[in-house]
Amino acid sequence: MVLVRHLCANPGLSRADLAEAVGLTKSTVSLLVRELLDEGWLLEREIVATGDLGRRPTPLFIDPSRLVLLGAEVDIDSVRVVTVSLTGEVLSRASANHGSTKSVKSCVAALTAAMSKLCKQLDPARQRIIGIGVGLPGGVDEANGILRFAPNLAWRDVPFGDLLREKIAGTALAGTPLFLQNEADVAALGELEFSAPQASDPLLYVSLNQGVGAGVIVGGRLLTGSRGFAGEVGHIVLQLNGPACSCGRRGCAEALIGPRAMLQRSDEQDPALSPLAVVRERLAAGDAPTLKAINKAGSYLGMLLQNLAAAYDPARIVLGGAVVELGDAFLKPALKTLNDYAAAANLEPPLVQTSRFGADAVAVGAAALVRHRLTRNVLVPVPEGQAAARSTRDAGIA
Ligand SMILES: [Zn+2]
Repeated sequence: MVLVRHLCANPGLSRADLAEAVGLTKSTVSLLVRELLDEGWLLEREIVATGDLGRRPTPLFIDPSRLVLLGAEVDIDSVRVVTVSLTGEVLSRASANHGSTKSVKSCVAALTAAMSKLCKQLDPARQRIIGIGVGLPGGVDEANGILRFAPNLAWRDVPFGDLLREKIAGTALAGTPLFLQNEADVAALGELEFSAPQASDPLLYVSLNQGVGAGVIVGGRLLTGSRGFAGEVGHIVLQLNGPACSCGRRGCAEALIGPRAMLQRSDEQDPALSPLAVVRERLAAGDAPTLKAINKAGSYLGMLLQNLAAAYDPARIVLGGAVVELGDAFLKPALKTLNDYAAAANLEPPLVQTSRFGADAVAVGAAALVRHRLTRNVLVPVPEGQAAARSTRDAGIA
């Protein structure tokens, strides 16, 4: 997997280049490359004859055609599933509503149906799914496959991994490795794994939907916190005694930036429409108070980004989610606020981009989670007894 990661970052290296890069002998690298070619991870390109240069070493690449990653997003009312090549190209996509009951059961059923549909479109003689990733709208205990808390669905301590495994047991996906993580976290991994190699660490992905959250990557790893709640930046407080937030506090970023903050005349709302849909309609109709409210929410986004920049000194901030689609009315005041804060301190503002995967950002990110976990060494938790023994030894007591 070290060889695979090197080729992800540096396509076209030869066996000799790889041997030098990772410090293994050429014969060991040749054996490993043979295995990776057979398994479908790598491909060799033919040498172009260049006349007097003689035989040049064969360049190696990640194979985009044989091994497939399956990524899924569980949103508040729908699921979206994509198949993605090892190099990050979306091969196919499907989506489905998970029913008005918002039950975990109907969601898992919709998810399984959408995944099975995409599986059937693969060429069984050539293509193979190597893992399933799922991005969930809440705090996730990745090691145990448990969704700790999804406030906008009112789901708590859901054993999502077990439920999904049970449901796919009778399908072609039975036994496929499964990885779960928070939606903003996987979207951040999508930017890390599938963007052109560039200096982008720390990397922040800020997810702007009905909820606001962030995925934080530091040192090439996801920062998840002690309970899976790191990056819940929607609940950074931006205003003392501000508007009430879904979490029970007042003045949180989510209550000032989210679509609900852009609606003052709640009495006129159509209950069948989401707050964002209402905002979109009013913006399109040129409603002046709505435009003003969107500008103000944008300015608060700028304030949130400033606080994140101060906390992490990020090389890159990526913005994604449905609220980003409001465009300049929302994003321009955000960037102006952020840039003004930087100028006041005589500093360069951080680099801010919108996600290049658009509405697929979380589903593609979930596929990236699979590649990330399969190709990097995952820290194995130390069993309790050993940890205790080690800390005693470290303290010089033993
Ligand atoms: Zn809050």
